[in-house]
Amino acid sequence: MVEIMELIVAKSIGFCSGVKRAVQGVRQMLFCPKLSTDKEAVYCLGEIIHNPQVVEELREQGMIIVNDIEEVPEKSRFIIRSHGLSREVIEMAHERKLIIHDFTCPKVKKIHTLVKDLTADGYPIFIAGNSKHPEVKAIKSLASKNSKIIEDEENVPEDVCGEKNAIVVQTTFNPDRFLSIVQRIVSRSKKTLIYNTLCEETIKRQSEARDLSQKVDLVIIVGGKKSSNTKTLYEIVSAHTYAFHIESEAELKREWFSGVHTVGLVSGASTPEEMVRVVTEKIRAF
Ligand code: SF4
Repeated sequence: MVEIMELIVAKSIGFCSGVKRAVQGVRQMLFCPKLSTDKEAVYCLGEIIHNPQVVEELREQGMIIVNDIEEVPEKSRFIIRSHGLSREVIEMAHERKLIIHDFTCPKVKKIHTLVKDLTADGYPIFIAGNSKHPEVKAIKSLASKNSKIIEDEENVPEDVCGEKNAIVVQTTFNPDRFLSIVQRIVSRSKKTLIYNTLCEETIKRQSEARDLSQKVDLVIIVGGKKSSNTKTLYEIVSAHTYAFHIESEAELKREWFSGVHTVGLVSGASTPEEMVRVVTEKIRAF
């Protein structure tokens, strides 16, 4: 008898609303018939989203990726990606008279407004998140100098003192790690305002991934290797079952599925639906 492997694909697949908005916006800009001279090229500082296939497609269509704002010619069209950009970089963009197209995700913008308001009220802010992530760097740039990025509970300073403290969190951070950080800060402070700024779309994917990981023998996570929300999905799933994080179907190995009866498939917020379909088809063909 031939055993048939069951494949369960999570409900939430394809781009999240913030990524969809940024990618569609850039595509519209690139297909503008005026894109004929260097001056009308579209520049982006770093990758617009953490997905190499989509970035490559946009690059082929004419998007120019730079590593430094000074590489962008003055008065050019310039994209702010969904993670947002730091205050300093936006100031430099204005100095260079760039034509700014802001695709910062509205959920990230909300954190910017919150942090600006709290800073104006004199609150030092703890930002729970990955210090190297562009979203976190942008948030930090809006907070006062005595604000801190906290990557895990071990980073919480011994002397969280003062009457005023506030906590915000990177939209795609691991909720369990956020909770541990909050508990540690609260235990060391007199008064702390806690703002849960986790993205609900990310939370939904995490919850589906957690449920799936408790039902299947193996979970495949599809998404960019640099994508924070995809890495969090891997962390959550691998706590319960075997898991592999891949960027494309080319990385799938037949031997992973040997003796496996049920497979789950989840994907990050910047993984196109098409990639999920291709991965699904390849798994089914094994
Ligand atoms: S994961 Fe959430 S916060 Fe991040 S871009 Fe998508 S919708 Fe916006």
